Amino acid sequence: MAGPSLWLTTLGCAKNQVDSEKVTAMLSEAGYTWADSPENADVVMVNTCAFIEEARAESVEAILELQDRKRADARSVVLGCMAQRFGSDVESALPEIDSVLGLDRYGELVGVLDRLTNWEPVNLTRRPVMDILHATGRPVSDFPYAYLKVAEGCNKPCTFCAIPSIRGKQRSRRPTEIRAELEGLVTAGVGEVILVAQDLAAYGRDIGAPGGLPDLLAFLSDVPGVRWLRLLYLHPREITDRLLEVMTSSPLVTPYFDLSLQHASGSLLRAMKRPGNGEKHLNLVSRIRSMSPGAAMRSSFIVGFPGESDSQVEELADFLVEARLDWAGFFPFSPEPGTPAAVMDNQIPRDIAMERLRHLSDIQDELTAKANAEWVGRKGLVLIDQVEEGVPVGRTYRHAPEIDGVVRTDSGVPGEWLEVEFTAAFGHDMEAVVA
Ligand code: SF4
Repeated sequence: MAGPSLWLTTLGCAKNQVDSEKVTAMLSEAGYTWADSPENADVVMVNTCAFIEEARAESVEAILELQDRKRADARSVVLGCMAQRFGSDVESALPEIDSVLGLDRYGELVGVLDRLTNWEPVNLTRRPVMDILHATGRPVSDFPYAYLKVAEGCNKPCTFCAIPSIRGKQRSRRPTEIRAELEGLVTAGVGEVILVAQDLAAYGRDIGAPGGLPDLLAFLSDVPGVRWLRLLYLHPREITDRLLEVMTSSPLVTPYFDLSLQHASGSLLRAMKRPGNGEKHLNLVSRIRSMSPGAAMRSSFIVGFPGESDSQVEELADFLVEARLDWAGFFPFSPEPGTPAAVMDNQIPRDIAMERLRHLSDIQDELTAKANAEWVGRKGLVLIDQVEEGVPVGRTYRHAPEIDGVVRTDSGVPGEWLEVEFTAAFGHDMEAVVA
């Protein structure tokens, strides 16, 4: 007999997305089924995000929306970072929720669902539930790409960030385990795999893998069927010559550098407990370009950090113009409870931070549009992700999924790799025809 049906809404980052996929695989193996809508589910679940205030508001909204949509007799469960960070607050604020399970209690999830649904599986041998970080089972991806989490947690002291208090210290996975999951993804038809972790380039330090990420990339480089290995979240302090050599010489690793630089002002970066300054960042950018002339670069930046002056904003603006990054993401500073930066003097009013953010985004939008326009008339390889309103939509090595622009082509089906000629660029997006 099929088990009770579940619904899972996932919020937040790629790492949370991987957690949801692993929870899905774990619960399917435990005999549960999946409803096609919250209205048809016996249990509705939300995998929440708690990184910053906006993310928490979005999580509460998603929880309340499912409460409205679910059947009166259906049960509800809250998972993820908000459950981990504010578990008891969530329970007292939302007493109608049946269970709130933080990340380190996922091992109890099957038992909790059995109790909530009064379900006793018959003729079903269940394997002991393992820490989902180490689980390799994943449902088949809807897209020709998938994220692969190689480690959990972070040991860095960034003064604005609550992630170490939510996800704990860094725990790297064994290379053989990562390889097994990669092989599983490829067998399931995935051609591009994106390696993620909170502090990806620090991979392996905690498990005595001195060669770290470069060795892991070398170890994964002969897995048949992978076409692109992409890396996200590279802390500038961890970008070594060896990592750059492997990234720029491997035929598998996309020359795509996701640099979390955060600002260009040396004094602000020191207050963030982050390395570098504008000059050092420019040296890193030109070092990458000298090793890989076609390299694509993206970075995230925090705007409105306590004490930030107009001249420091202009310092960042000047850096953007000189660095000519392909993409950038700007985030308003969020005073996260429990972080050192939340209690620093000279907090910047929100409206000023947003004004600065718009100013910097406008500058970057022009640079991104220019970088895309330089590809018009050239040829390149595109992976088709999906078809939107009859138009095939894909990406090149320069485009990470869900955060960068896209390429619309004149033909192609999801999962297809196409040699194209780029015919037009519109801001973040491009058009191309099959060559
Ligand atoms: S490296 Fe990233 S996840 Fe780690 S503390 Fe810094 S910002 Fe947070």
